[in-house]
Amino acid sequence: MVVAVAAFGALLWLEQRRSLREPLEPKGRRVARNLAVAGVSAAVLHLAERPVSLPLARLVERRRYGLLQRVRLPRWLETALGLLLLDYTLYIWHVLEHKVPALWRYHAVHHVDLDLDASTALRFHFGELAASVPWRAAQIVLIGVTPRTLAIYQRLLMLSIMFHHSNVRLSTRAEKWLSPMIMTPRLHGIHHSVVDEEVNSNWSSGLTIWDRIHHTLRPKATKEDVTIGLPEYRNPADLTLPKVLKMPFEQLPQSGARAVDHGGSHSSRRNSATALARV
Ligand SMILES: [Zn+2]
Repeated sequence: MVVAVAAFGALLWLEQRRSLREPLEPKGRRVARNLAVAGVSAAVLHLAERPVSLPLARLVERRRYGLLQRVRLPRWLETALGLLLLDYTLYIWHVLEHKVPALWRYHAVHHVDLDLDASTALRFHFGELAASVPWRAAQIVLIGVTPRTLAIYQRLLMLSIMFHHSNVRLSTRAEKWLSPMIMTPRLHGIHHSVVDEEVNSNWSSGLTIWDRIHHTLRPKATKEDVTIGLPEYRNPADLTLPKVLKMPFEQLPQSGARAVDHGGSHSSRRNSATALARV
């Protein structure tokens, strides 16, 4: 927790000194809004995920459930493979969040932010986090994740998502060295672009190998200056805290290459059919 807060502070400081993109909204207002969304989500995580993940990981260790518990491996190798498989299955979950309409409704709240910085890394709708609990449970049981691997993974993931959402410009050398291995702020910015083809790329949360093996890694954006957000939501007045919290239940963020819901108006249903045909 202390490390996460220190990393968050360091990234905010670096964003002021070496910004990657020109922000659209005032920083203070956005950070306050994103932290408020994060606060609600943290409460849901505390109530919904914590009581599931850790007891399940303890059970896995005790009863030797899951793939990695079936074979006797040195502890370091078991941990390393556990981290790799958790990272890969998170890649799959992220793709599903874009392709499955019921999940996209919630994940859109993360994408609708007009700017991208370390605070966006904490801006996940509580519905999205609640929906991820069964997925996380399946990851733990099927992979065979022990409490130790789970704790290391949760810490690394938090640092990784804060880093790649940040608005920090890396040096050309650092970018060249890091991007073949891990998701960088520039690469992840392309995933948050208003351009549909760019959204459907760079899904990895940790290692970029998953994008490479699925041919979804996009090293360059079509334009040098990536426009962040969703094309349907360009007005900051539509993105206040109450509106983003209500968004999955009321509005329908819609775009050609993204998932769309079958609910809503006649016109949205008509557009759904066209859009789904394109996914
Ligand atoms: Zn996404």
